[in-house]
Amino acid sequence: MLTRDGFRCTKCGKAGKLEAHHIEPVHIAPELAYDVGNGLTLCRACHIDKTTAANTNPQNEAAASASSEPRRALRKPV
Ligand SMILES: [Zn+2]
Repeated sequence: MLTRDGFRCTKCGKAGKLEAHHIEPVHIAPELAYDVGNGLTLCRACHIDKTTAANTNPQNEAAASASSEPRRALRKPV
């Protein structure tokens, strides 16, 4: 994967400290963990950026709230 992407960040094109980012999170799709099609080469900054974006993605919100605070925290009793 790193070789395929030329040891450069696929987002900003920077070379240097690179990390492998999984498009489908490993805990959701463990069978894709070593699938190069599920991987992106990102520099640390872009990886953090991408991870943060994924965490605020409404698609992941259900999974996030299921494991942490229940939704009723938002609904105030009348
Ligand atoms: Zn980058």
